[in-house]
Amino acid sequence: MQNRRDFLKTAALAALGLGTGLHRAEAIPLFNINAKAGITPRMRLRFFPYELKLRHVFTVATYSRSTTPDVQVEIEYDGIIGYGEASMPPYLQKELGTLESVMAFLKQVQDKIGDFADPFKLEDILACIDGMSEGNAAAKAAVDIALHDLAGKLLQAPWHKIWGLDKDKAPSTTYTIGMDTPDVVRRKTEECAGRFNILKVKLGGKDDRQMIDTIRSVTSLPIAVDANQGWTDRQQALDEICWLKEQGIVMVEQPMPKERLDDIAWITQHSPLPIFADESIQRLKDVVGLKGAFTGINIKLMKCTGMREAWKMLTLARALDMQVMIGCMTETSCAISAAAQLSPAVDFADLDGSLLIANDRFRGMEVVNGKITLPERPGIGIVKAEEGI
Ligand SMILES: [Mg+2]
Repeated sequence: MQNRRDFLKTAALAALGLGTGLHRAEAIPLFNINAKAGITPRMRLRFFPYELKLRHVFTVATYSRSTTPDVQVEIEYDGIIGYGEASMPPYLQKELGTLESVMAFLKQVQDKIGDFADPFKLEDILACIDGMSEGNAAAKAAVDIALHDLAGKLLQAPWHKIWGLDKDKAPSTTYTIGMDTPDVVRRKTEECAGRFNILKVKLGGKDDRQMIDTIRSVTSLPIAVDANQGWTDRQQALDEICWLKEQGIVMVEQPMPKERLDDIAWITQHSPLPIFADESIQRLKDVVGLKGAFTGINIKLMKCTGMREAWKMLTLARALDMQVMIGCMTETSCAISAAAQLSPAVDFADLDGSLLIANDRFRGMEVVNGKITLPERPGIGIVKAEEGI
């Protein structure tokens, strides 16, 4: 055990980059070089649009697309950079914001963030930013992720460790098979069956059973089903869920429209499978109202404003004896690795977003034999793609 004098000595050596193997820029902030020189470091925020190119055209019941609008964010403090990201799929612009609204919001944050001297005061900084306007959840998430990355780097620890989680307990991620013709579904299933341990299928259309039968002709892997509010009759939905249970499906997301909460509660009460909220939930304030109506909640950083609120939602859901899954949009390894930091604490993880894009700027969380594998790197655990491991 170090006594206080030894600790101060070690920290001072660390500040000088001596004796501990630490690089000077990684020294404990209390003793940083700028502070010693009497200069108070300030946070600076930068951002730029970065259109995500999808590897395959993405099709759901109502539309198709091949790109996702995205904004990359950096917060620099005392020579260290935290990275964040806002992804805004067009069908979620009401909750998440548009490219224009995100850029305008980040400009406001850029003007404000220098007022905060201490990057560790996440609660105060993020409450202030949240209060700057309604909505713009994705822009708020981008700032939150960059601040967490920065704080983790200053502490030289990854967030799963700061939260006290065992990274070996991170689950396998689901991998989504999109709606398509039986031939295409069969081929896609063959391609991914050996790489993943659990698949995800979007249902809610008239060809639901054909889709499941096609996948089952290739593999017996567990399947998560997302109905995306697609079923309209609760008895039919329950019948479908009972059939799905027999086909080895392990959970169902959002069986009916969010306005039909009483019907969803009835389904959950009778369902042999756990029922998760997605469209029914956005932020922390929504969790309590879903107790009893759903078995669990799907938390997505872009919808809930980031890692800090996600952690609070997870904690509250556990206190309410609810299950938790962590989901994503199409995102680079930046936001995906941020979400993955929480994954050792969840029941299901749907973090395949970075696998679906062709222009990932980062490397971070890796999927190894289907399982989420967290790096030991500090913060959210990412490096720029061109910098390698
Ligand atoms: Mg969903």
